[in-house]
Amino acid sequence: MNRRDFLQNSLAVSALLAAGQCFSTLPASAQESKAAAIAGIKSRYWQYDLQLKHTWTIARGSRDVATVNFFEIESDGIKGIGEAALSTSARYGETKETVQQALSRLDLSAFGDPFQYGDILAHIDRILPGQPAAKAAVDIALHDWIGKKLQVPLYKIWGLNKEKTPLSTFTIGIDTPEMVMRKTEEAAEFPVLKVKVGRDNDQEIIGAIRKVTSKPLRVDANEGWKSKEVALERIKWLQDQGVELLEQPLPTSQLAETAWLRERVEIPIFADESVRKLSDIGKLKDAFDGINIKLMKCGGVAEALKMIYTARALGMKVMMGCMIESSVAISAAAQLSPLIDYADLDGNILVSNDPYVGARVVQGKIIIPDAPGIGVKER
Ligand code: MG
Repeated sequence: MNRRDFLQNSLAVSALLAAGQCFSTLPASAQESKAAAIAGIKSRYWQYDLQLKHTWTIARGSRDVATVNFFEIESDGIKGIGEAALSTSARYGETKETVQQALSRLDLSAFGDPFQYGDILAHIDRILPGQPAAKAAVDIALHDWIGKKLQVPLYKIWGLNKEKTPLSTFTIGIDTPEMVMRKTEEAAEFPVLKVKVGRDNDQEIIGAIRKVTSKPLRVDANEGWKSKEVALERIKWLQDQGVELLEQPLPTSQLAETAWLRERVEIPIFADESVRKLSDIGKLKDAFDGINIKLMKCGGVAEALKMIYTARALGMKVMMGCMIESSVAISAAAQLSPLIDYADLDGNILVSNDPYVGARVVQGKIIIPDAPGIGVKER
């Protein structure tokens, strides 16, 4: 190693330690100047249309294509990849245009390196309020970079055991009874199914599934039942059909009604639309048994990690879900999955042109790859 290479390596190691903050004995001012010696973070974004294998219908709309935005950062010769995906009918206020605008204008060059993710994500909160999917793209890319820099998968950084991943459901969208039966048969390898209900044909859909399988079912009404009395009647029927869990029976505005419902049913009720970020959880604990965390609602893995531990402290169960998204966002969520009770991480399985490979689901079990960072590579 020549002197120049030695100095460059020394600077890189110092910056790494300074940014990690745990092990460095350098004074703060020296840490900052060493970290600044590395060029700022470069970034680029691009849009991509994920094609759905089947038209996707839930209580509030349908689609055949889901446009996602990929966001890539580069620092110190290492790249990190992130993704922003949106819910059906832009339920949370972001659109592909707002995400595109946010990510195309984002300049991270003032930040020394991705280890400063705490400052970077706080900066994103200030300049992109109410845009958690755009923030998630940045958060995932930063964490992917950190894992690659340290040469370890993220689950190891968090002290998790990859053998403890839960089963993931495969989701059957709303459809005709014939198509529901076909989709159920296509999902043969999944031991648990999630079924979208919340329209007038709930009984027809569940009945069609029960003609071809007796597997446990989890049901998601997506706020589709408009009164607590209707919801109670539907849930009582669903309990008799082998349904083990229910998501978001009523609109988010009906918190007291959901608490009323919870007193009268046997199966656990999970919040999805009612919970986006950490600060939402406290007010939900009387109405819901658990929360469904999605990276695109909360803004990424840093916030999701805090939400998981907070829900645990409040005695609530934790599920992780997803939007229609590629293996990038799914793999980031999968890295956290040893911490959760239930997973619904099938967004990438529902599409036919995923440009990445990473976390997989085998016989329903989530398999986290050993590659560093979020663990994905281009297909
Ligand atoms: Mg849901």
